[in-house]
Amino acid sequence: MDFRFSEDEEMLRQKVRAFAEEMLAPLAPEVDEKDEVSWELVKLMAGQDLFRLVAPEEYGGLGMKAVNNCIVRDELCRICVHADLYYAEQLLTAYPISVYGTEEQKRKYLPPLACGEKVGSFALTEPDAGSDVAGMKSTAVLEGDHYVLNGNKCFASMGPFAQTYVTFARTDPSKGSKGISAFIVEQGTPGFEGRPMRLMGPHPMGELTFTDCRVPRGNLLGQPGKGMEVALSTLDCVRMSVGASAIGIARRALEEAVSYSKQRVAFGKPIAEFQSTQFKLAEMALDIDAAELLVFRAAWLKDETGGRVTRETAMAKLFATEMACRVVDQALQLHGGYGVVKGMTVERLYRAVRQPRLYEGTTEIQKIVIARQILSG
Ligand SMILES: Cc1cc2nc3c(=O)[nH]c(=O)nc-3n(C[C@H](O)[C@H](O)[C@H](O)COP(=O)(O)OP(=O)(O)OC[C@H]3O[C@@H](n4cnc5c(N)ncnc54)[C@H](O)[C@@H]3O)c2cc1C
Repeated sequence: MDFRFSEDEEMLRQKVRAFAEEMLAPLAPEVDEKDEVSWELVKLMAGQDLFRLVAPEEYGGLGMKAVNNCIVRDELCRICVHADLYYAEQLLTAYPISVYGTEEQKRKYLPPLACGEKVGSFALTEPDAGSDVAGMKSTAVLEGDHYVLNGNKCFASMGPFAQTYVTFARTDPSKGSKGISAFIVEQGTPGFEGRPMRLMGPHPMGELTFTDCRVPRGNLLGQPGKGMEVALSTLDCVRMSVGASAIGIARRALEEAVSYSKQRVAFGKPIAEFQSTQFKLAEMALDIDAAELLVFRAAWLKDETGGRVTRETAMAKLFATEMACRVVDQALQLHGGYGVVKGMTVERLYRAVRQPRLYEGTTEIQKIVIARQILSG
């Protein structure tokens, strides 16, 4: 058993860490307060070829590896939540196109995503269908050479700002979850409209409406009726990287807590000298390491087997996102009143860390997924 990263993986980590610390850190406090996309940031990330990690080599990418995704998201999120989100959505859009797309779709849509010329969005959730995604109401009716889409999506990260969308609608309402299909929709298609949604933490996000939106038949992604497979296999691959971004946030919180507790003096000594502080720091470090093992186990297994890693990725996502909330909460506690002052890093982390427990399957849904895997074994 070898727990070390390969030389290439280690080089990637060093490269992304240096980029994040040098180029993103100065921008993060401002960008991470916004609900809009920072195109300056997208450009900077594209300049580092980061988005190329989400697409295969034949289509302008550098190959798709789950371990690389986790390394990148961990390092980006440690410094800048927005940068991590841009990477995540590019991945969520490029992955299903890479795996289920026709040759023509891959040639058309992947290179602009890989070079950062266009940004993507994965729009699955609907106002009445979140966890129970198969309950979606959007429809797509084939009329000649076009599918006519009608319906609403919500909570689409990058929502109104993206150019390329992977979305889902019912092509056969009589077949339940087997009647859902996936589509690629371009920004600007008549009948497509995006509106921003505002969240507690910084997050470019939107609601999308399709009103008699005519999408070329050639933009059907995968086979008709296989939309749930497209959605679930995408989440299966990407979910563990949500855990990695949570680890990035937790690492940063621990760093802030260590630094603050060494300099903050109470009762005549730095608070780091109190055993209760040390216990908190030890628990935070332990939690982060445990999450790291679960996240990189899932990613490694994905890269090794290429198959579904449903149980492992659900465990990684669940544990790491819950862990990050515990760690950030403790880090904030160690800052005392200053922890909730605007402009403090832990305050920003506290608002950002709550979201990952909800998206790509809530904690409760991950438990259901894990339990199903255990019971069916
Ligand atoms: C920041 C953020 C970003 C997001 N980004 C995207 C995106 O890019 N694309 C996209 O398509 N969606 C996105 N989402 C949507 C997200 O995936 C959904 O919010 C999530 O799946 C939960 O759905 P819901 O909000 O409808 O909650 P509901 O499904 O209504 O759940 C409400 C509560 O009930 C619980 N629950 C539901 N079913 C069960 C059950 N069977 N057993 C036990 N408990 C249950 C849930 O765990 C939750 O606590 C995002 C959400 C957020 C907050």
